[in-house]
Amino acid sequence: MSETVDYDVVVIGGGPAGYPTAIRAAQNGLKVACVDAWRNHDGGSAFGGTCLNAGCIPSKALLESSELWHRAQHEFAAHGIRASGLTLDLAAMQKRRATIVKGMTGGIAALLKAAGVTGMFGSGKLHPGRVVEVTGTDGKVTRLRGRHVVLASGSVPTPLKSLPFDGQRIIDSWGALELPEVPKRLCVIGAGVIGLELGSVWRRLGAEVITLEALDALLPMADTQLATEAAKHFKKLGLDIRLGAKVSGAQPDKDGVSVRYTDANGEQSLVVDKLIVAIGRRPFTEGLLAEGTGVRLDERGFVQVDEHCATGTENVWAVGEVVRGPMLAHKGKEEGIAVADRIAGKYAHVNYDLIPSVIYTAPEIAWVGQTEAQLQAAKIDYKSGVFPFAASGRARAMEASSGFVKLLAAKATDDILGVHIIGPMAGELIAEAVVAMEFRGSAEDLQRTIHAHPTLAEALHEAALAADKRAIDNINR
Ligand code: NAD
Repeated sequence: MSETVDYDVVVIGGGPAGYPTAIRAAQNGLKVACVDAWRNHDGGSAFGGTCLNAGCIPSKALLESSELWHRAQHEFAAHGIRASGLTLDLAAMQKRRATIVKGMTGGIAALLKAAGVTGMFGSGKLHPGRVVEVTGTDGKVTRLRGRHVVLASGSVPTPLKSLPFDGQRIIDSWGALELPEVPKRLCVIGAGVIGLELGSVWRRLGAEVITLEALDALLPMADTQLATEAAKHFKKLGLDIRLGAKVSGAQPDKDGVSVRYTDANGEQSLVVDKLIVAIGRRPFTEGLLAEGTGVRLDERGFVQVDEHCATGTENVWAVGEVVRGPMLAHKGKEEGIAVADRIAGKYAHVNYDLIPSVIYTAPEIAWVGQTEAQLQAAKIDYKSGVFPFAASGRARAMEASSGFVKLLAAKATDDILGVHIIGPMAGELIAEAVVAMEFRGSAEDLQRTIHAHPTLAEALHEAALAADKRAIDNINR
């Protein structure tokens, strides 16, 4: 075995939590190594983790392409564009997706290099004394010793008990992004973020999609008004979402998969070509910790950390999806940056109360802060301003006038407490709300901020005005 190489910081994981940790640590003048074990379906290594290789980025690529296909079929006529003979070239669509992924993951390698980080492909295991043993793809073992070690090993899809992924008929979200042909009949288990995004992709491309969701409510974490509006759009798209449907088992054979589930009417079953299991993700810690490191896992398998992402073992930190909190790339990124700054003795803070959520369906769904139900439960007096995109000239011109912006503000202080958007570019629009809330902005602050006309962002301005019944472009009720 080779000698042990010393670093200031060794980061295990080069996904959206790990690589920003490494880059910021290097920016702070530290000697940094970043180790990543990711292997693509073609066997190649890459930085970027699930987000870039198998999640956020490829799914957005397909969401964009499938939405264009859908709009070409259903919307062009309204614009006066008569298109005939439209054909779907899924191979080209998938090639575009793969090219985007390749470009982005290659970009991470370049960013690490430019920052002076030593990037390594291989599987890292933490040993006592902050020694990280890296087993390379060729089986060669390298030993690194970190003055600090940051665990950022991410998460993996949760399989349904007694229903393991077979990569053919029963697939996870990654497999569902790389399908070479549109399945005729597709079942998605779980109407969470992944289930809804992937269900939308394949429905738009022509599959019959049946989504089985164990809970009785759709998107229970979202504001109820948002979830109700979203349900209408999913129905219009033709997604057959069955709530209160708990899957008990499935049997794949050469012709398809038969899925068994129970709902209010008892035992049910259906036969589909493919089954996507999207029932959540679990922290990935397999092979991560040798005996005696002192790093502890909680009962759900997450690495235990305090509010500063410290594990309790001296100078060992953990960030991203391997620790508590929402499994969102942007949450992991901020944790990583904060840890890298703390290691360098700087002040750092992550505001866990203001992590935006975005669901990239059409229309997009995005929110930040508290829902009406949460405010009611906390007995906080609030006012609500809603502005429909139907009253937005820009949205109308875009042929995207469904949905609304809802702004909730405290009656006593006028502080903005939550913003909930369903509509065009909601994922972009929510950023303004996050910034306003980070600065503890009030509804009046947004009311007095000039928004360019005609833009979608005006809907936020008008929602803030509506909270005080002073909307200009909509009737105040
Ligand atoms: P999720 O937890 O969001 O949703 C899983 C759903 O499956 C839940 O609604 C659950 O009730 C349901 N379910 C569980 N067991 C079931 C059963 N036996 N039968 C029927 N339904 C069942 O998980 P996900 O959609 O897999 O996403 C995983 C993580 O990745 C989440 O934390 C999500 O936030 C994150 N993610 C985020 C984005 C985004 O931000 N746009 C995109 C993809 C993934």
